[in-house]
Amino acid sequence: MREVLHWIGGAMRRSSSARLGDVFNPASGEVQARVVLGGAADLDAAVASAAAAFPAWAATPPLIRARVMFRFRELIERDAGALAATITAEHGKVLSDARGEVTRGLEVVEFAAGIPHLLKGEFAEQVGRGIDSWSVRQPLGICAGITPFNFPAMVPMWMFPVAIAAGNCFILKPSERDPSASLHLAALLKEAGLPDGVFNVVHGDKEMVDAILHHPGITAVSFVGSTPIAEYVYAQAAARGKRVQALGGAKNHLVVMPDADMEQAVDALMGAAYGSAGERCMAVSVAMAVGKAGDALVERLVPRVQALKVGPGTDPEAEMGPLVTRQHLEKVRGYVDEGIREGARLLVDGRGLKLQGYDDGFFIGGCLFDDVRPEMRIYREEIFGPVLAVVRVPDFAAATALINAHEYGNGVALFTRDGDAAREFANQIQIGMVGINVPIPVPMAFHSFGGWKRSLFGDMSVHGPEGVRFYTRLKTVTARWPAGIRTGAEFVMPTMR
Ligand code: NAD
Repeated sequence: MREVLHWIGGAMRRSSSARLGDVFNPASGEVQARVVLGGAADLDAAVASAAAAFPAWAATPPLIRARVMFRFRELIERDAGALAATITAEHGKVLSDARGEVTRGLEVVEFAAGIPHLLKGEFAEQVGRGIDSWSVRQPLGICAGITPFNFPAMVPMWMFPVAIAAGNCFILKPSERDPSASLHLAALLKEAGLPDGVFNVVHGDKEMVDAILHHPGITAVSFVGSTPIAEYVYAQAAARGKRVQALGGAKNHLVVMPDADMEQAVDALMGAAYGSAGERCMAVSVAMAVGKAGDALVERLVPRVQALKVGPGTDPEAEMGPLVTRQHLEKVRGYVDEGIREGARLLVDGRGLKLQGYDDGFFIGGCLFDDVRPEMRIYREEIFGPVLAVVRVPDFAAATALINAHEYGNGVALFTRDGDAAREFANQIQIGMVGINVPIPVPMAFHSFGGWKRSLFGDMSVHGPEGVRFYTRLKTVTARWPAGIRTGAEFVMPTMR
């Protein structure tokens, strides 16, 4: 059976630990590979390799670092099909969606290729007589990224292109569920001319994450995953003086006002709730119907959810693939059971879905609940599956009050034709990423991605300007050349005279 190894110092490396994790094919249910689950000794090797590479890489002119990104970009485009196939094979999402993921990652590489401009800093002439001052941003050292299963290529690419282009070395700990895409990216970076040791991949589970959080050689940690682990990573890394950004889970609402274009809203909900089987942190899991929008919405949604085409990700006709593991499938099924127990009305039940030839695959059909109330677990908790909850509210104020009270604050959308309501919504809502008639408002690479409340621990979002700030630190130089006036020793705070 294929074994997925670490990537350290520009080459595949065996693990010092004998522990292995199963990598499934979610469509068939079979184990297709085993991934090494490493620990502190493997991390030590990765840190040593990164530490050796760091001085020369940090001293490399940003323009030269950018050129590596340009070449990397071309190679991703060349291999986009193969990368997408790897994602589909291990994650299960449909190929077209996997291709989209690669493109969204590639856009961050394009952003990072502009690093000379992003690092050039600020200069002030004559801050005092004969004195100039300038600010520059310098790399941090060795940064680590810990990433979730649901975007095995894109989420790592939210992080390492910016970190590396800014002059850091990077150690990626991808999800052990779908670890292979990260190795393909590592090989492409090497082919693009990245020096060995600048980018490393270590595989593992909690043991490896804990090793990262404890390692004194690692300066900064970027995490994306579920909220309990995000909070843990944030607290542990910060307690050891590391810079940390930890993005967590979500419960994203799409509010449908009575004046909205219902066909457009239903199309938006279908893609946002059921695309990637709901395994997206920006998936819409709550349709909040305002006033008379409720009936109009539900009557259109039911036949659409019933008609969803579910199949293996390799089937070009499939709109939705399987879930990532049997364990996750059971968890999602459990939430549907719970919703019924809590008294919500299950209008479409995907639990019984059977696909001929894929009896052991981790499939579930689309599920749709109506009359979901705020106290129910299916409203409060992240399900991370193809389950959409319709919550009916009397008016706009009730919709915004519920959203603002929710513990998560990742994404939200409003569908309306009323510009006034839209403006107020965008201004007042306590959520990090807002869509107006856009269901999944994922910021482009040159903006930054991040939620509020328990969807992000730390101060800075990923990629875009915030990403550059996260992976660099500010230095401000104030300089005077002695040819100017001699002032003698001064014992008071310097001020302008
Ligand atoms: P997860 O939290 O289970 O795993 C994320 C990472 O943490 C993995 O690398 C995993 O190996 C590691 N990990 C798991 N358990 C750990 C533990 N006990 N101690 C230390 N490390 C541990 O998340 P997942 O299931 O892979 O991904 C789905 C979650 O990620 C969802 O909650 C989703 O909303 C979230 N997510 C958020 C964003 C965002 O931008 N906010 C983006 C993508 C996914």
